[in-house]
Amino acid sequence: MDQRECCGCGICAAACPHGAVRMAVDWEGFAYPRVDPHACTGCGRCREVCPVGRSNGAIERPPRCFGAQAKSERDRTGSSSGGVFPVLAREILDEGGVVFGAAMGPDGTVRHQEARTPEELELLRKTKYVQSELSGCCRQVLERLREGRTVLFTGTPCQCQAVKKYAGGAENLLLADLVCYGVPSPGIWRKYIKELEKQYHGNFEGFAFRDKRAGDNGHTAAVCISGMEYAWPLEQDQFCEAYFRNYILRPSCFSCQFCSVERESDLTIGDFWGIERVRPEWDDGMGTSLVVVHSEKGAELWASVKERVRYFECREEDLMQPRLQSPTPHPGRRRALFLGLCRILPLNTAMRILRKLD
Ligand SMILES: Cc1cc2nc3c(=O)[nH]c(=O)nc-3n(C[C@H](O)[C@H](O)[C@H](O)COP(=O)(O)OP(=O)(O)OC[C@H]3O[C@@H](n4cnc5c(N)ncnc54)[C@H](O)[C@@H]3O)c2cc1C
Repeated sequence: MDQRECCGCGICAAACPHGAVRMAVDWEGFAYPRVDPHACTGCGRCREVCPVGRSNGAIERPPRCFGAQAKSERDRTGSSSGGVFPVLAREILDEGGVVFGAAMGPDGTVRHQEARTPEELELLRKTKYVQSELSGCCRQVLERLREGRTVLFTGTPCQCQAVKKYAGGAENLLLADLVCYGVPSPGIWRKYIKELEKQYHGNFEGFAFRDKRAGDNGHTAAVCISGMEYAWPLEQDQFCEAYFRNYILRPSCFSCQFCSVERESDLTIGDFWGIERVRPEWDDGMGTSLVVVHSEKGAELWASVKERVRYFECREEDLMQPRLQSPTPHPGRRRALFLGLCRILPLNTAMRILRKLD
């Protein structure tokens, strides 16, 4: 596959029955599959599970669209949008199921993992603007499905599609994908962590990309270094500035095939952009989620949590936003320039040079 198309989910590595595929990181900090020609038998399983390219799945029914906020203030404050994810996830746990999502480890590494308890669920909450490593938990997803437990898998749309293909249409699998701007480089993220440690003279302990303490819909970033916390507006964060200027996105994100309202997942969740226009009285700065229900399974899960959310049904155009229409645009030569400069300079110096070109 052309490197520009590979979404880096790593499902090919997880699915290969001969262990012939491993993920290797390139100079931009993204992982790509490498095939060992001696171990590969040409069985084609890696191609079968790859989420990129034509899909055979049918759209079950027309999507239904909602705006929603968790009724519990704690759910909303501790999540990035309206707190719909923790409500859905707790419903699954209460019924004896398990939830998979992205967690940030103490060293800042973002990877998918399982939550079986409300305490474990806390780690999956909140948006982490870094591509999460998925392949490590795929076998666990299969094991839980084979045990007959309900599995709620949450992640980017490409990760959800990968897991769907890998699990081969298991009835007890529920997929809640995100509206996704694109995933930033884990390599640049690691570099940024080192720079923060140097700047604040200590060890990295955690980072919140969407802190809500300012009541600004989560537009505050906060880092914890050796017990001290430092916070600043999201748009002043060097890593997030590079992200939203599209310099550190994975190449495949610029041609993402999932940027539409219609999806093959069961539910889609995201930020309800334009809530101030559609329901001005809901716009309290603490976040509103959009929810799109795609399938019968998704509709059942949504119905079972409706008591725990404030919601309204709306038209597709009410919740429309760029990433439900088309992929994030490529920033041209500036991306390569920025990533090249990052090899030798700190992020803030590289960004200062790029800003001068504006
Ligand atoms: C990289 C990225 C880009 C996004 N871009 C947009 C966008 O353009 N427009 C929009 O409306 N919404 C976007 N979102 C989604 C949004 O930020 C919220 O994550 C979503 O609305 C859920 O919020 P919540 O309040 O319901 O729950 P939260 O508690 O905030 O739940 C977070 C959920 O996101 C998952 N998650 C967190 N980080 C990652 C990651 N790195 N990879 C995969 N899954 C992850 C968790 O597993 C959990 O399911 C993006 C999320 C990510 C991770």
